[in-house]
Amino acid sequence: MKRGYTEDQIRGIGMTSQRTRDRLVDRLRDKGIADVRVLDAMRSVPRHLFVDEAIATRAYEDTALPIGHGQTISQPYVVARMTEALLQNQDVQSVLEIGSGSGYQAAILSRLVKRVISVERIGALAEQARTRLRSLGYRNVEIVHSDGESGWARGAPYEAIMVTAAPDRVPTRLLDQLTDKGTLVIPVGGRGNTQRLLRIVRAGDETSQEELDLVSFVPFLQGCV
Ligand code: SAH
Repeated sequence: MKRGYTEDQIRGIGMTSQRTRDRLVDRLRDKGIADVRVLDAMRSVPRHLFVDEAIATRAYEDTALPIGHGQTISQPYVVARMTEALLQNQDVQSVLEIGSGSGYQAAILSRLVKRVISVERIGALAEQARTRLRSLGYRNVEIVHSDGESGWARGAPYEAIMVTAAPDRVPTRLLDQLTDKGTLVIPVGGRGNTQRLLRIVRAGDETSQEELDLVSFVPFLQGCV
């Protein structure tokens, strides 16, 4: 993986150019994404540099793409929808993401909040995402190689937590790491099922929950590799 990117690489050309990115943003708006801050972040982060060069020309299609190790970078619409839902109600300073993958979602979040901590269980992906984000100058993101089942207590509490892999049920330790009125956005349903994307808000020891969408994520797995 390269240590730095040239201006030309970041700017893109043809299928990775700003015009192509703008068309994706138009499509996201048509599909109901209304938060201008989210749309601007989606416009500015170069998704083509978060996937392998061989599929970079597909980076601005509204589709999930493979990133190796059996994992995928999420569909842009889902990234935008989850980001919008996470930031909806309150001023968010710090976000915990579980499932760094390529680092793309973390990059989007880093444009919108002060501090992002993102946890990834696959060491090779964590290392690649860390190098990539550093090369692109996203300095307020920390990638941690760890099992996200127990969250990341050192940075807690968080106003917002986003999980980008699907467990069978909500890991309770994540709720413990939310601030009061904090928001958790998480797909629940596990492997091979249609998963329900939930938005859970903590109020003291209680939570309230709303279903946002039906989604399809890779499974949330235990342990680090
Ligand atoms: N948000 C990523 C895409 C997520 S793919 C992006 O923008 O590219 C889901 C990721 O979650 C995978 O990389 C997978 O390894 C990771 N994952 C699955 N279970 C996990 C766990 N228990 N802890 C941390 N990461 C996990």
